[in-house]
Amino acid sequence: MDHLTPQQRHKNMAAIHNKNTKPEMIVRRGLWKRGFRYRLNHKRLPGHPDLVFRKYRTCIFINGCFWHGHLVDSATIESSACCKIPTTNHNFWVAKIRRNKERDKEEQRKLAEMGWHCITVWECELKPKQREQTLDSIAFTLNHIWLQDHGAKSIPYPQLEEEEMQMPMAAEE
Ligand SMILES: [Zn+2]
Repeated sequence: MDHLTPQQRHKNMAAIHNKNTKPEMIVRRGLWKRGFRYRLNHKRLPGHPDLVFRKYRTCIFINGCFWHGHLVDSATIESSACCKIPTTNHNFWVAKIRRNKERDKEEQRKLAEMGWHCITVWECELKPKQREQTLDSIAFTLNHIWLQDHGAKSIPYPQLEEEEMQMPMAAEE
C-alpha cells in the first residue's frame, strides 16, 4: 500500500536520492582514510559540490552515470556503455540528460572562474574492483593540485565568507 500523494512521493524520492548515497560514502570514507579532510554539500558554491577541500581549493562531484550521462556525447546524446537512455519516453530522457550535462558543465565553469578545481568521480569508477585505484588517483590529483598551486609562486587564495568557517567539518566513525 502506498499512502503518499504523488508530490509527497516525489519529495521522498528526491530526499533518498540526495542523502548519503552509497558512491558518495565510498569516496568520503576512502579519502578520510587517506588523511583528507573536507566539508560536505557546500550550499554556497555553484552546483553544491558533494565534497569540498578548502586546503586544495578543490570540489569533488560524485556523479551517477545515468543522470549525468557518463560517456554520452553532449552533441548527440546517444546511449553509451555507461548510460542507457530508455526507449520509452526517449525524447524526454534525451532532453533531461542534455540539461543535466549542460548544468554540470556550467557549474564547473563558474567554479573554475572562482578559482576552484573540480574533480568528477563517476559511479562506475567505484565498483569494488576499481575502487581503491580510483581513490588513490583522486588522492594523487589532490596532492598534484596542491603542489601546482603552491609551487612556482604562492598566491594566497581569497578568503571565503565567515559563515564557511562555522560549517562543521565532516566527521565519520
Ligand atoms: Zn560510468
